[in-house]
Amino acid sequence: MKPRALLLVFVAMFAILLPLSGQEIVLKEGDGKRWFKGQTHVHTLWSDGDGAPEIPARWYKEHGYHFLSITDHNVMLHGDRWFAVTPDGRLTPARLGELIHDFGLDWVELREREGALEMRLKTLEELKARFDEPGEYLIVEGEEITASEVHVNAVNLRDVIHPADEGGQAEVLREQILALREQEEHYGEPMLAHLNHPNWGPGFPAENLISVPEVRFFEVYNGHGGVMNWGDAERHRVSTERLWDIALAFRLREDPGNLLYGVATDDAHNYFRRGEGGSIPGRGWIRVLAEDLSMGSILPAMERGEFYASAGVELREISWDGREYRVTPASEEGVTYTTTFYGTRRGFDDTAAPVVDGEGDALEDVTWVYSEEVGEVLFVTTEVPAIYRARGDEMYIRATVVSSRLKADPFREGDREKAWTQPVVVR
Ligand SMILES: [Zn+2]
Ligand SMILES: [Zn+2]
Repeated sequence: MKPRALLLVFVAMFAILLPLSGQEIVLKEGDGKRWFKGQTHVHTLWSDGDGAPEIPARWYKEHGYHFLSITDHNVMLHGDRWFAVTPDGRLTPARLGELIHDFGLDWVELREREGALEMRLKTLEELKARFDEPGEYLIVEGEEITASEVHVNAVNLRDVIHPADEGGQAEVLREQILALREQEEHYGEPMLAHLNHPNWGPGFPAENLISVPEVRFFEVYNGHGGVMNWGDAERHRVSTERLWDIALAFRLREDPGNLLYGVATDDAHNYFRRGEGGSIPGRGWIRVLAEDLSMGSILPAMERGEFYASAGVELREISWDGREYRVTPASEEGVTYTTTFYGTRRGFDDTAAPVVDGEGDALEDVTWVYSEEVGEVLFVTTEVPAIYRARGDEMYIRATVVSSRLKADPFREGDREKAWTQPVVVR
C-alpha cells in the first residue's frame, strides 16, 4: 500500500473511532460555560392558557429562568389577534384590570367590537422587545404541534407547522419532526423538537418511541395535572422513565449512538391558581450548559446531551469519563439526595408480551411488558458526589436524583424534588 493510501485508511479509521472515544463529558460551570435555566412548554391566551402572553414572559424572568419558549397549540405569536373580555371567560375584567395596573394603559391595547370589549394579544416580537435582556433572558419562538393523539413541541422554529393527522402515532410523530428538520435546513438555524407528555390522553406506547429513531427528545416530566408522569396501573400506563428505558434499550441495540434525551417542562396553562391538578408555572425545567444565551449555543448543547431535566433538584456537575458516571447535586444544608443509576446491559433479556384484558385479548396501544433487565437499577447511593463505576457491559447509563425535601406545589401530592441526567453510551 502506498503511503498516501495508508494515510487515507488511517484517517478513515480515525474518523470512525472519533465519535466512539468522544463520549466523555464534563458538565460544570467554568471555562466560559454556564448552566442556563429554560422552559420550553407554556400556553397563553393565544391558545388554551388563561394568561395573556406577558404573564408567563414576566413570571419566568422574575423566577430566574434564562430562556422561555411560548408554545401555543398550532399557532405562533404573530399577527393581529384580539381576545374578548368576558366575566366568565379566561380574560375577565378583573384580570384585564391587573394587566393595566401592572403594564400600563400604553401597553394594553383595547377596542370595542359589536358592543364587546377586546384586548389585542402581544406578539412574540413585542414580548421580546419588552422582556429580552442580552445574556440574561431570552424569549424564543415556539409551537406545540398538536395532532389529535401526538403533541410535539417545536422550539426556535420560523414558520408554523400544521399538524399531520393522517396515519398512526409513529407516522405523525415522524412527520412533525421531519417538518421541523426541513425548516432547520432551510433557515440554517438550530431547532428543537420534543415529544410531549407520552402518558396523556390515549398514551404513547414505548413501541412507538422505539420505531421513530428520529425523535431525540421527550418529556420525562411534564407539570400538567393530567399527564401521569409516574404511570397509571388502571390505564396500563408505565411511568415515563420506564418508557425511556425500554426505548433506550431497543434503540441503542440497533444504533448505539441513537440516544433519547429527557426534558422537564411545565406545560403551564393556569396562571391564577396553584395546587395539585392545575398546570402552573414552576414545576419542571431544564438546565443547559452552554457558552452563551443564544439558541445557536443552547440547542447544539442539548443535541450533545449537555443538559439535565429538573423538577426541583439542581445539579452542580455531571461527568462521564467512559468508566465512571459522577453526579453532584448542588447540596443544601439538611437535605439528603438519593441518586439512582439505571441502565440496560448488552445481551439483556428482550422478551416482551402484550398486556391482556380479562378475556386474554391483547390490549392495543399499551406498552408491552418487558423484562426487569430493561432499565435495571445499577446502583443507589446517598453519597455526594454520587459515583457509579461502569462494569462495561451496560449499553447506557442514566441517573435520577431525588431530594429528601417535598416538592412545593407538586404535580402529585407527596412528590419529592427530583432531577434526571441524560443517558450516556458505554462503549
Ligand atoms: Zn400537549
Ligand atoms: Zn401543552
